Amino acid sequence: MGKLYVIGIGPGGLDHMTLRAMNAIKESDIVVGYNKYIDMIKPLLGDKEIFSTGMKGEEERCKKALELSHNKVVSVVSTGDSGIYGMAGLILQLRVDEEVEVIPGVTASSAAASVLGAPLMHDNCNISLSDLMTPYELIQQRVNLAAEGDFVISLYNPKSKGRPHYLGECINIIKTHRDGTTPIAVVKNALRDGQEVSIFTLDTFDESIVDMMSIVIIGNSQSYVKDGKFITPRGYKV
Ligand code: SAH
Repeated sequence: MGKLYVIGIGPGGLDHMTLRAMNAIKESDIVVGYNKYIDMIKPLLGDKEIFSTGMKGEEERCKKALELSHNKVVSVVSTGDSGIYGMAGLILQLRVDEEVEVIPGVTASSAAASVLGAPLMHDNCNISLSDLMTPYELIQQRVNLAAEGDFVISLYNPKSKGRPHYLGECINIIKTHRDGTTPIAVVKNALRDGQEVSIFTLDTFDESIVDMMSIVIIGNSQSYVKDGKFITPRGYKV
């Protein structure tokens, strides 16, 4: 009998993957994923069969994986957590009666937070600025309400060539609710090769350094930077 694992491989480096994810990949006959993610786990693949496609091939990959899982053990890999802008949702939407197991991973906001200090210590949310499947008006509305609600905000997919102005526009929305001294951090390639970390305030923010390999974290009204560490207090009296 076959089986399909939907695996979050974490932010990149193999040492940030869970043991459960690693064991599932080892157990698999076939590994399916975007070329770049397959490269990240190459040392685990040995002579396993690989089915990889470019970035836009998500639906094709998921259908193929479900089909292959009828009589083989198959892993579909996403970076970070497969249930956060990953493949878990699409797989379950397309699933008919295949056996599917979702295995969590360290998502980009957790990975970046660990590098920055403790910015996510209080209520926080993730917003993707990608408008491929979400209208930009809805993205702006969510950014506005998250800022009004004083959430710490992690912006996934913060910038791409096709929508260079969204990030600046969304930061301006946030500025209508937050002080200019609020910390904002950019982490590029968190916990993988090429990691770069920058911490600004909303007033000094340089968005030119942001790309699709980056995540942007904006503090809440209580967040601050101490000795280079981005902290959002939880409320302990210290
Ligand atoms: N499933 C993934 C997210 C995929 S969306 C997860 O849970 O992390 C792709 C976006 O995630 C990128 O544009 C970037 O904003 C963010 N991202 C993924 N890995 C990252 C990393 N190692 N460092 C910084 N940002 C990352």
